[in-house]
Formats: sequence, C-alpha cells, structure tokens
Amino acid sequence: MAKIVLVLYDDPVEGYPKTYARDDLPKIERYADGQTLPTPKAIDFQPGTLLGSVSGELGLRKYVEGLGHELVVTSSKDGAGSELDRHLHDAEVVISQPFWPAYLTAERIAQAPKLKLALTAGIGSDHVDLDAAIERGITVAEVTFCNSISVAEHVVMMILGLVRNYIPSYQWVMKGGWNIADCVSRSYDVEGMHVGTVAAGRIGLAVLKRLKPFDMHLHYTDRHRLPESVERELGLTWHASREDMYGACDVVTLNCPLHPETEHMINDETLKLFKRGAYLVNTARGKLADRDAIVRALESGQLAGYAGDVWFPQPAPKDHPWRAMPHHGMTPHISGTSLSAQTRYAAGTREILECYFEGRPIRNEYLIVDGGTLAGTGAHSYSAGKKA
Ligand code: NDP
Repeated sequence: MAKIVLVLYDDPVEGYPKTYARDDLPKIERYADGQTLPTPKAIDFQPGTLLGSVSGELGLRKYVEGLGHELVVTSSKDGAGSELDRHLHDAEVVISQPFWPAYLTAERIAQAPKLKLALTAGIGSDHVDLDAAIERGITVAEVTFCNSISVAEHVVMMILGLVRNYIPSYQWVMKGGWNIADCVSRSYDVEGMHVGTVAAGRIGLAVLKRLKPFDMHLHYTDRHRLPESVERELGLTWHASREDMYGACDVVTLNCPLHPETEHMINDETLKLFKRGAYLVNTARGKLADRDAIVRALESGQLAGYAGDVWFPQPAPKDHPWRAMPHHGMTPHISGTSLSAQTRYAAGTREILECYFEGRPIRNEYLIVDGGTLAGTGAHSYSAGKKA
C-alpha cells in the first residue's frame, strides 16, 4: 500500500461551491502543437467543478482508495509540524500545485526515504529541489500544456489592464466617482507598441499569437529559435539574448521556467536596459525578478506598471511589498487554475498516477526528472545545478 500526499489550496471562505456560474466547458481535443489532452482511463469528477481545493481532491479519492492506497489531502504545507512534514516519512507520492506549492527542499526530500514520485498538478516543478530528486532517483513529472493557454490569456489580460489603466479606473467606479481625467492620465493603446517575450515556449508563443491581432510589434528571445515559418507568419523579431530585447520593447512578458539560468534575471542592473515607462508582466515565477528591484523601478518610473500572479514565497505574506507598490496589477497565483485548467490537470494527474501504478511509462512530455537525470520536457527547458 502506498501513501499519497496531496497538497491543495484551501476551500473558498464561504465553503465548497454547491453551484457554478456555467453548466459546461468547451470541448478541446488537442493542444496547438498537436499534443493530445490528458488520456486517463477514467475520471471520477465532474468537469468544470472546483477540483484544486482540499474538498475537490483533484477527483482522486475513489481511484486511489480503490487500489488500496492511502490518500492524505491537506493544505497544511509550511512551518514546523505541518501535515506535509508529518506524512513525509512514509509518503511514496507527493502531489502539489504551483499555486500552493509544497516546497520539496533537499531537507524535506531527505526526510522522505520512500518518496518515488513528485507530481506537479500543473506546470513548473521549481518547488522541487531537482538536484536532490536527481540524486535520489525520484521521478518528477508535471502535466505539460494543461494550463499554458490559461496563462497566455491571463498575460494578455494583464498587458491590456496595465497599459489601458483598467484597475484604477474600475476603482473609481467602486468609489462612486466619474473621474475621467484621473483614469486616463496613465492610459494608452497597445496598438503599435513593441512587446517581447522572454521564452517562446507553449505560453510565450500563445501570447504572441494572441497579441498579433492587436497590431503590436512582436519580439522574442529563447534558447531555441522558432521555425522560420512561424517567425514569418507572426512577423517576429528574434533577439539573441534577453538583454538585447529589453530596450526594444514597451512591454516585456516573462514566460520561461525558473531554474539556475533565470533566477533573478530581472534586477536593478537589467531593469536599466528597459525603456523608461515599460510594462513588465510576469506570470512565470516570482523569483525570476528581484522583489525589491521591482518596487524601486515602479517608484522611480523606470517601469510604468508590473503585473503577474507569481510571488515568492507562496502564499505571499500580508506585508509582501508587491501588495502595496504603485501601479501594479497583481493577483494571487490563479492564472493556471481556472476551472477549465483544473479539469485538464486533474485528468493529467490521474493519467500519470495510472501509468505509475500500472508500471507503464509516463508520457515523455510530462517528465522533468527521471532515472537520475533531467528528462523529457525537463531536459529541454530546465538546467540542473545551483544558481550561479
Ligand atoms: P514550455 O516548456 O513550453 O516553455 C518554456 C520555454 O522557456 C522554452 O521555450 C524554453 O526554451 C524557454 N527557456 C528556458 N530557459 C530559458 C532561458 N534561460 N532563456 C530564454 N528562454 C528559456 O513551458 P510553458 O510555456 O508551458 O510554461 C513556462 C513557465 O510558465 C513554466 O515553467 C512555469 O514556471 C510558468 N507557468 C505558470 C503558470 C501560472 O499559473 N502562473 C502555469 C503554467 C506555467 P527551450 O525549450 O527552447 O530551451
């Protein structure tokens, strides 16, 4: 019998929903690159329901207990005596979502001698110490592509929100005002602006595609260049390094994983390369940016706005400076956990568990670490080692 520890965010403050705003989800067969959506043998949940919070259990209980395994579901993941810590000693599988990450540090991995699979219900496994997983032969897998489009939509929303000054204008309505001049004195059109993405993977490319109809000039930098046909179709300008790209852009969006090459890549020095009044949108990972450098850049006007949904640590403490800095449009980490996304990553988690328990290979594109080395998507997009 295996113990599976599933770390999920808390239920809504008013309780687990009994009804939903909509009755169904659109049917999507394949992702844009042809990859199929998750293909578990079965699911035990209603698509479109809240699966990512504790009572939703990713719809896994019936399946896991049906196999005779134990399922522990908890939101208690941080601090001494957390539920996660209490169960590590005999956990074989730990499942966690990036929105409410169970930080599997080297110390925690050392306390989990039976751990064989660290599964991310979502995308981005930087909350797992990949070096420690490699050393211990733990498999790290995630549900590649499950919420990439969800995030791309959020990025587009945030770019429009910042540039058009949406949130402060909304706040004037809520305050009972009609303060048009206050609303528009920081409001511009995106048409004609230059927007650049650091990384044109699943999310970055989807953002570029979605911004093209806005008649923006599109830029990107990535470790691997996109096919020439894609560059031509979208009219992309390629930059050999992110530092080369920053100064060409009015809007920069970060869409790369957090790993030693990218940690704190946005800092006081690199922010000097941006145009004064640039907008920065980061839905990738909080630690890509130096926290206090962002605050300084907003206060000085070097950045006109910053938005995103990723912080460090998560949950962000009440006094995190990004809650109170000027001209921001932050949300909690929600972009990849819409009800639509939850349906896909709950099914993907089930698919990975079915493979694991039936001794079948996990899809290569879901793998980050396997057999003591970076594997699959991990081998393509991540780097091992500590930050330089
Ligand atoms: P992909 O693996 O499709 O894309 C990642 C891209 O980043 C790849 O094209 C990779 O390049 C590129 N990359 C890696 N290192 C660098 C670097 N040093 N400089 C430039 N480019 C680099 O992943 P997704 O697009 O689906 O997701 C990207 C990230 O977004 C995730 O790792 C995660 O951190 C975050 N995310 C956030 C979510 C949220 O809810 N806010 C949800 C989902 C993801 P190449 O492969 O060419 O080497």
